[in-house]
Amino acid sequence: MGWIKDRLFRGRTAGARTAGLCDCCNDPLERTHAYYLPTRDVGLSQAYWESAFTLSKGMIDLLDEQERLRYFGEHLRLTASQRNPWSVCESCGEFFVFDRDTARDHAVHDSRPAGNGAVDPSGCVLFAAAAWEHVFGRWPANVTPHAVVDTCDLCRRNIHSQAFSFTVPPSRMADFLAAGVVDGPSVSAAGPGKDQWEMCQPCMGRLVARCHRAGIGSA
Ligand SMILES: [Zn+2]
Ligand SMILES: [Zn+2]
Repeated sequence: MGWIKDRLFRGRTAGARTAGLCDCCNDPLERTHAYYLPTRDVGLSQAYWESAFTLSKGMIDLLDEQERLRYFGEHLRLTASQRNPWSVCESCGEFFVFDRDTARDHAVHDSRPAGNGAVDPSGCVLFAAAAWEHVFGRWPANVTPHAVVDTCDLCRRNIHSQAFSFTVPPSRMADFLAAGVVDGPSVSAAGPGKDQWEMCQPCMGRLVARCHRAGIGSA
């Protein structure tokens, strides 16, 4: 499966990441404009996995089903095994919910964030599988299924049992709408009048990033 490793990390190996590129999208990235995140944060982010699978979708679509499932397992294992911090650009920062000041400080000083290091792939598999389902339209057959327990009120993504989801009261949603930090036809059509807004992890990451840029609290 060496070819997978080459494609996944463009020849990089754990402990020898290419300087000056975002580890999520490979765009050029100055360290002083980066965020440093531990592998744990990356592996737990459904939005990160969706982005990674979407970037490789053209290649994955050419594989037969057995190869696809092997690819899924290998991608999961390699991602979880990364020992160094991930250097993440502003745009890819929307995949994660994290303390931006602390993560920027670690990037500027090239220091290790708390919780840094490889993680157990079994702790990340749910988020990778949910992303796989979103990108390819079906749950990976080599992963134990999780029931769909809800649907995101913003993007209609499935929310699976044991996945992260966030409840936003209507008053906060009204603030977010007024500040222009949420969009999507479902919100503007329905207005903030629901009892509670159920939000998936990818939508929450984007919302927190936008709130940070707009200088408003997201809690
Ligand atoms: Zn990026
Ligand atoms: Zn959503």
